[in-house]
Amino acid sequence: MDLLIQNVLHEGQQADILIHGGRFARIEPKIDPLTLDQPAQFLEADGMAILPSFANVHCHAAMVLLRGLGEGLPLQAWLNDVIWPIEARLTGDHLYWGTLFGCLEMIRSGITAVLDMYWQTPQCLRAFYESGIRVNFCHPNILPPGKEHLEQLRRDLAEHLELAKSYPSRVEYGVGIHALYTTTPEVRAICRDFAETHDLLIHTHISETRDEHEKCLADTGKTPAELFDTEGILNERFLGAHGVWLSDTDRALLVERGAAIAHCPSSNMILASGVFNQNAARRDGLRFGLGTDGASTNNRYDMFSEMRTASLLAKVHSQDPTACPAHAIYRTATLDSFNLFRLDAGTIAVGKIADCILVNLDHSGLVPGHNLISDLVYAATPECVDTTICNGNVLMRNRTIPGEDEIRQAFRQVVAQGITS
Ligand SMILES: [Zn+2]
Repeated sequence: MDLLIQNVLHEGQQADILIHGGRFARIEPKIDPLTLDQPAQFLEADGMAILPSFANVHCHAAMVLLRGLGEGLPLQAWLNDVIWPIEARLTGDHLYWGTLFGCLEMIRSGITAVLDMYWQTPQCLRAFYESGIRVNFCHPNILPPGKEHLEQLRRDLAEHLELAKSYPSRVEYGVGIHALYTTTPEVRAICRDFAETHDLLIHTHISETRDEHEKCLADTGKTPAELFDTEGILNERFLGAHGVWLSDTDRALLVERGAAIAHCPSSNMILASGVFNQNAARRDGLRFGLGTDGASTNNRYDMFSEMRTASLLAKVHSQDPTACPAHAIYRTATLDSFNLFRLDAGTIAVGKIADCILVNLDHSGLVPGHNLISDLVYAATPECVDTTICNGNVLMRNRTIPGEDEIRQAFRQVVAQGITS
């Protein structure tokens, strides 16, 4: 059904906005309901502003199951001693409810698209579909060498893609290469060829820690970016998470190939991995979006705090208060991040995909309201989001998501059944 948003603030002006077929169809000072071709759901938005929703370009949604565990460890110890032993015990049921619960938090902070990498593809795809948000989902391929494993990888990729195609188009499949240090050249070649054949995004972790970056250089004579490039993987469908230790040459190589980075400032700060050089990325024209990473290294799915952290980090890193102004990081979290999904979303304009939020202008962080974008980045919290809309569908209204209590209860139950022993 069409959706008519009435009396909303749009770019400083009162407007009515009609959404038809999942896209913005009309934006006018006043739309007379009698002029509508089809029946519409009416949504009164007096006292609210309409803004694009956020796209989260690196996440492991179901890691909310592990939130609060392994605090204070560096990446390799955190993975080896805490995360991987628990993940080995997680069932499809855990991941289904974990993903759904993670999606609740994202909807509440105005995120409507997520690039997610995790295990148990069928259960995760189903949970993302049921949540109502968009996903580009990939399995974090980590495989030991061996012909049978490689055959299994080929079968899995084909099966998972078919499964994703059985859902509406907001559920997409990408190809995951967990990282260079957890895969072999054979695994990566299969992933590269499959992504190329089916025109899919390739998602991986790249130069996240100094150890990882330097070990790759010592072992192969190439940086991770150079090695991916040598293997024919670095292209405009490549989206690497973190990129903290990219050298100047790496960055130039990524720019040349049209490859992109998911900047995850909170995760990098919690694990003390280092600082992604956002100022150099902007200067050199490197494509990048903003990601929360999983809830066990953030520990929240909240683009408001991610924007604020990214901006403050860029300022202190460069000791330049003009670095990464509010409007720049806001664009990164919306339009630029949606672009990495190859989605025509991230602005409120006729013809664009109708992913948006309505923010309550009475929220304390948005008062007195001298500069809405500055307030959103530095003062607001997710509580300012009243309504979240994905593809023209209202997922949250008046901060209420249908079925939320049942999901929270089921999530608590699967965790109570035990994940740590
Ligand atoms: Zn990650």
